[in-house]
Amino acid sequence: MVDVHGVHKSFGPLEVLRGVDLRVRAGEVTVILGPSGSGKSTLLRTINHLEKVNRGWISIDGELIGYRRSEDRRAARRASVEGGGGRRAGKLHELKEKEVLKQRTHIGFVFQNFNLFPHLTVLENLVEAPVSALRRPRKDAEDTARRLLERVGLADKTDAYPRQLSGGQQQRVAIARALALEPKVLLFDEPTSALDPELVGEVLDVIKDLASTGTTMIVVTHEIGFAREVADTVVFMDGGVVVEQGSPAAVLDAPRHERTRAFLSKVL
Ligand code: ATP
Ligand code: MG
Repeated sequence: MVDVHGVHKSFGPLEVLRGVDLRVRAGEVTVILGPSGSGKSTLLRTINHLEKVNRGWISIDGELIGYRRSEDRRAARRASVEGGGGRRAGKLHELKEKEVLKQRTHIGFVFQNFNLFPHLTVLENLVEAPVSALRRPRKDAEDTARRLLERVGLADKTDAYPRQLSGGQQQRVAIARALALEPKVLLFDEPTSALDPELVGEVLDVIKDLASTGTTMIVVTHEIGFAREVADTVVFMDGGVVVEQGSPAAVLDAPRHERTRAFLSKVL
């Protein structure tokens, strides 16, 4: 389970996240909607600690991301007095970069612009991290990679380079690459918004397939039809807070907040 608790994030004077709470249960798909600048990407980036939070905490399967909590009693009391202690009292200590990188290997991230390694073949893109970060034997990593490429319909592209693929194919490679690390959760930041319209469907189909097999996912997207069909929970963000969340039917068809209604009237 992903647990985002009271997360605040500022860039200088700009308060981008102003107390975000979010829970994503294992095997569920959460779709985040919201206007440009509402903090959606920043929220995803805090979840894998690409951005440090100013307040609050994030845990995945009970493990704090980016921090550990001291069990020191006095520090715990002090932290709870200061109100920065989170669910259990205790002072938060930042993890070392190496430990953060280890946590990050279990959090898949799929970007708008694919971010494949251009100088590596498709197969090598999938094999690199499992071998270097998880110390998997190359042969095993290659077998897994081939299986995943088959799953995303790209078994015939193992030896191609990213530049030889369409955007939709590149994004499917990026998804397979994220899966190769067997993530506890997959984060998608507008995975189809850089694609030509005719290529959107093939990428959404792959994400739908993952959803049907119980992959835990948080998907930022403007694809309302996808949200309706695939999401267990739809979250509407605006101004750095979660304005409302619920089932797709509740949020998309019967939104309770004026801000949600105004947003939906523009995108539907
Ligand atoms: P979009 O739909 O356009 O992708 P978003 O909801 O993902 O928007 P964010 O990218 O999270 O929004 O940005 C929220 C606000 O934070 C914006 O005003 C943005 O300019 C600002 N911001 C994001 N990252 C940084 C940064 N590294 N430094 C300064 N400001 C930032
Ligand atoms: Mg964004």
